[in-house]
Amino acid sequence: MPAGQANAIGSRPSETEAYDVVIVGAGFAGMYMLHRLRGLGLSAKVFEQGGGVGGTWYWNRYPGARCDVESMQYSYSFSEDLQQEWVWSERYAPQPEILRYANHVADRFDLRSDIQFDTRVERAVFDERARDWSVTIAGGKTVRAQFVVLATGCLSNARMPDFKGLSDFAGEVYHTGHWPHQPVDFTGKRVAVIGTGSSGIQSIPIIAEQASQLTVFQRTPNFSVPARNAPLSSQERDFFRTNYDEIRRKAREEMRNGIYQELPEKGALEESAAERNARYGARWEKGGLTFTATYNNIALDKAANDTAADFVRARIAEIVKDPEVAKLLQPNDHPIGSKRICVDTDYYATYNRANVKLVDVKANPIEQILPHGLQAGGVTYDFDALVLATGFDAMTGSVARIDIRGRAGQTLNAKWEAGPRTYLGLMSEGFPNLFVITGPGSPSVLSNMIVSIEQHVDWIADCLDYMRANDLDSMEATRAAEDNWVAHVNEVAHGTLYPQANSWYMGANVPGKPRIFMPYIGGVGVYRRICSDVAAKGYEGFTMTTAAPVQRVAASS
Ligand code: FAD
Ligand code: NAP
Repeated sequence: MPAGQANAIGSRPSETEAYDVVIVGAGFAGMYMLHRLRGLGLSAKVFEQGGGVGGTWYWNRYPGARCDVESMQYSYSFSEDLQQEWVWSERYAPQPEILRYANHVADRFDLRSDIQFDTRVERAVFDERARDWSVTIAGGKTVRAQFVVLATGCLSNARMPDFKGLSDFAGEVYHTGHWPHQPVDFTGKRVAVIGTGSSGIQSIPIIAEQASQLTVFQRTPNFSVPARNAPLSSQERDFFRTNYDEIRRKAREEMRNGIYQELPEKGALEESAAERNARYGARWEKGGLTFTATYNNIALDKAANDTAADFVRARIAEIVKDPEVAKLLQPNDHPIGSKRICVDTDYYATYNRANVKLVDVKANPIEQILPHGLQAGGVTYDFDALVLATGFDAMTGSVARIDIRGRAGQTLNAKWEAGPRTYLGLMSEGFPNLFVITGPGSPSVLSNMIVSIEQHVDWIADCLDYMRANDLDSMEATRAAEDNWVAHVNEVAHGTLYPQANSWYMGANVPGKPRIFMPYIGGVGVYRRICSDVAAKGYEGFTMTTAAPVQRVAASS
């Protein structure tokens, strides 16, 4: 429905630009949300601050960027034709291919006509009388929408560290999460990389091949397992294509992390050391994230976890020739898997190269960036280009950058000051008709995110359809439902080893950010059933109002 002719849900005065739904962000979440809403005959507008679709894959163009969930699974399932026809080239597709896929989806489903690029959403204010949102975009223009969906991404707010002297650096500075669109050539250059999370670990081996000298500044080592990336054979593709129904069903319903895989039957301590070694060895050879699913208690039992961590530490010692460097690369400060493990190609072996040096900036913190290098622990390191692989203000960062005001003028930032509070990760009390996709309190970043994105989009679309059918115009989480959910999310998290790590899941990478375990660790299957059950019970835990007069029709929790 074109702008100005919206109002398919409830009744609102017609304005020049009014939509049933404004969607913020055109990554995989925003794109699919738009597609579903169109299918319902609702008018929707997407605002995207970037110049194209793809979100994560539009911004993260650093060398070596690729997915860590296998592409046959890290892809949309909503269209049978799409999943049968798209040809993934490798087990883990590289960033340019994933971006091509996002563009293909935009073209195939004709999404671009309702997406406005290069447009940041700055502000969203709820109008309690009209029961709709006034959304302000960069430049000051305002549009109205009955619903707002934040598809702003969990890893979309790249975090620039506040090093003294950073702006004085004379060479180029790059952030992996905000990489230039033109290829960057490090040939013959002395390069520094700060950060050894997934982005650093993917880019370091490639940069090392180009640079004359690479210095890696590591504060905390991470566990990384080999990707064993390779071209996909037609037999491998056919296996998925023939069995997609069952594979996708299992990923959604039976797996904790939304990745179809062989599930372990045993705990790590139920087998002998030799049996464990053989089993870890087989998973290590197979490669990929499923390493931490070798046994069913690695995330739960520290002694079990230690067996997996010891195995990886031993592999690092085997691969890296210099024992001092190997020791520095061995993580010891967190249980394996309590930070997202990294999936690499030749990461550890890269430290055997003569042109690569590892500097421990935990023992000797970075003091300042200099015009031609940096100083750490009183030592000066010279380089021509600086790569910041320093991560993101995750899960809440992009939401916090929008000035969101709900009922009684309350800001979402004020409400979330001590940590994000949501019901099901989908809505926050006091902010009617505002949905978050893969928000804090949902499995989100602990899962194959396309599985979680599709589940949220479908739930929201079904909910809006229900509201239209029942002549309802506003919806809000109740305080009681939200309190119960927040308590449940915390309780489940603290039954695992995850909160033991200083991870971005905990907000620990951002100084001053509250330490709360943000995602829901109960598993995507369990979570899906909870969400479906809530919907089946007439959206239990949400308050809904009819178009007019205001009347409470469902207010259980
Ligand atoms: P995003 O892709 O982040 O898109 C959000 C969009 O919203 C962005 O384009 C942003 O510009 C826009 N936006 C934000 N705020 C505003 C605003 N105020 N106004 C306008 N636009 C705004 N997950 C996996 O499951 N498997 C993987 O292999 C995997 N690999 C990853 C690799 C990297 C390098 C990174 C950083 C993340 C990876 N992830 C992976 C997580 C990844 O973010 C998700 O899989 C998924 O792409 C998220 O899609 P999204 O649409 O929710 O968010
Ligand atoms: P990250 O995991 O948060 O890693 C950031 C790194 O920068 C850490 O090593 C951190 O050290 C370091 N750092 C930050 N500030 C620093 C400072 N002031 N001084 C020194 N070191 C500093 O970020 P990321 O690597 O971008 O990954 C974020 C998430 O994105 C991943 O966990 C994953 O979910 C996703 N991702 C996935 C892939 C993939 O394989 N498909 C690739 C990239 C990203 P500390 O640990 O000490 O803080």
